[in-house]
Amino acid sequence: MRRMRNVKIVATLGPASSDRETIRALHAAGADVFRLNMSHGTHDEIAARHAIIRALEADLDSPIGVLADLQGPKLRVGTFASGAVELEEGARFRLDLDEAEGDSHRVRLPHPEIFAALEPGAELLVDDGKVRLRVEDCGDGFAECTVVTGGTISNRKGVNVPDVVLPVAALSDKDREDLEFACALGVDWIALSFVQRPEDVEEARALVDGRAAVLSKIEKPTAVRRIDEIIAASDGIMVARGDLGVELPVQNVPPIQKRIVRKCRAAAKPVIVATQMLESMIESPMPTRAEVSDVATAIYEGADAIMLSAESAAGQYPVEAVTTMDAVAREVEDDPTYTEILEASRVAKRESVADGIVAAAREIAETTEIKAIACFTQSGTTAALVARERPRVPIIAMTNLRGTARRLALTWGTHCVMTGELTRFKQAVVNAARAARVEGYATEDDQIVVTAGVPFNIPGTTNILRVAPCDERLIWATDPE
Ligand code: PGA
Ligand code: MN
Repeated sequence: MRRMRNVKIVATLGPASSDRETIRALHAAGADVFRLNMSHGTHDEIAARHAIIRALEADLDSPIGVLADLQGPKLRVGTFASGAVELEEGARFRLDLDEAEGDSHRVRLPHPEIFAALEPGAELLVDDGKVRLRVEDCGDGFAECTVVTGGTISNRKGVNVPDVVLPVAALSDKDREDLEFACALGVDWIALSFVQRPEDVEEARALVDGRAAVLSKIEKPTAVRRIDEIIAASDGIMVARGDLGVELPVQNVPPIQKRIVRKCRAAAKPVIVATQMLESMIESPMPTRAEVSDVATAIYEGADAIMLSAESAAGQYPVEAVTTMDAVAREVEDDPTYTEILEASRVAKRESVADGIVAAAREIAETTEIKAIACFTQSGTTAALVARERPRVPIIAMTNLRGTARRLALTWGTHCVMTGELTRFKQAVVNAARAARVEGYATEDDQIVVTAGVPFNIPGTTNILRVAPCDERLIWATDPE
């Protein structure tokens, strides 16, 4: 389905958006990728959502991306006899391994390895930082803390430990089960939460074993410190501002977001800006002006995708939230300042033939009356390279691999069209011209740029650039075989 914008929209599914009609309406409003959050919902519920998306995809005959987001090694306290306790600033509070229910003096933290890694002075942030504890003394299986910021802690609230590289496995047992389940379903992206090191990504990639692309969520200071290596190890990145803003002072998040978006573009890897983008729309049909500005900022920065979390998963206005993002995107992308910013921040990479061809394709498209750049892509790499150029004309990615088409749903400006097996270049050009006409990008009188690799079906061989007419008779009459 043709979108009238470049930035992609990711919508998280949940209780507010699990029926066929809502999922269809979210897609019609502009959702390009659906996120299945493995932290919530049973496998049956998630499988049902996945089946609805794939049925919709078949109906529309247009690839849709599905991203399964693993919970990751999220630390949680145990339970309290009274369900919740109130902690006063300055009070003492103990975390330990005792299985007894907690009270206002102590609670269980069922992670022995964390106690081993803690040091006096480290801060523990409970429930997204609403309660802060400072470690005074710790040892085997316990930590004695002082309450720095008081508040309520209730059963199984999350705990963040920003100051310490945690000696926890990148994937919990639950994550491994969820990963296997999601890959077997046939999702396109696996997102990893709380990535700390590039090795975490490698570990997950080995388990995924080519069945999906691997996306790292940047939500820990340790990941920010090793961002270049993590980008290199990943197929895509999410700026997960929720936990990032707990683990670091919130004012650190915007500069980190800007830096990561730029680095991902330079690396030709898709980047999602996520969390609280339209938070007030969970309860209100109208966003705040500040939220609209935040969405616009991510688009001006050149992010590949923007994401809805609770807004679409559990809010009262899931479809309106997508409609809002779509409307903001169209307005921003229509602004000449948007084009100026994207072009001023372009990084000229000339390391491969493909780099040169995509840059040339963009140059030609912008200096002449070209309606679109159609690129033949196997792994999706060439399409990502064209997207990195952020051309002014639409990008049509032509592929015979459904997985590639679905994964590219996350990539800036890329409209995917499935092709059959191709053996001749002439036939490829005819297909590209037809796709450009059928999808409404060009008419018979127009021209497009076509890039491809010959021989076909070998990834990484982009070596041809052809300025082609969209009139098939002309192509058959004039093109070389
Ligand atoms: P989450 O990740 O919604 O899974 O926590 C996003 C974030 O932390 O921003
Ligand atoms: Mn998170």
